[in-house]
Amino acid sequence: MKCQKCRNLDTKVIDSRITEDWKSIRRRRECEKCGARFTTFERMEFVNFLVTKNNWEKEMYDRSKLQRSILKSFSKRNIEMDRIEQMINDLESEWASNKKWITSKRIWKDVLNKLKYMDDVAYIRFASIYHNFESVGDFIKFIKIEFE
Ligand SMILES: [Zn+2]
Repeated sequence: MKCQKCRNLDTKVIDSRITEDWKSIRRRRECEKCGARFTTFERMEFVNFLVTKNNWEKEMYDRSKLQRSILKSFSKRNIEMDRIEQMINDLESEWASNKKWITSKRIWKDVLNKLKYMDDVAYIRFASIYHNFESVGDFIKFIKIEFE
């Protein structure tokens, strides 16, 4: 969530509560750079489905976990937080409408496909985790295939 004063991307949540109608979460945030405080309202999504991991273990889908890894890929990139939120919302409704569970592989693949059209650097960063890049050579190979 971007600071409304200095536009810094690192803000921390200092208080969260559910609104009276149970439809949103009201959060007090503080900018880690300039200390400005502001309030945001986030629509609560009751998206529930299971994720099957590569070892066939199942776990509940965790939006914040996915969001964290996406945000890491966008570190220092200029991107509207709203666009990331919207992207995850769109994907979630696809994932949840299919069936009761989805593979983690599909989640990563779908996110990658979206990032490809949003930001080259974030795309490569996310792909490097997904494909377990281990050397510069792996990056070069990937970039050659994807961008040439
Ligand atoms: Zn700030």
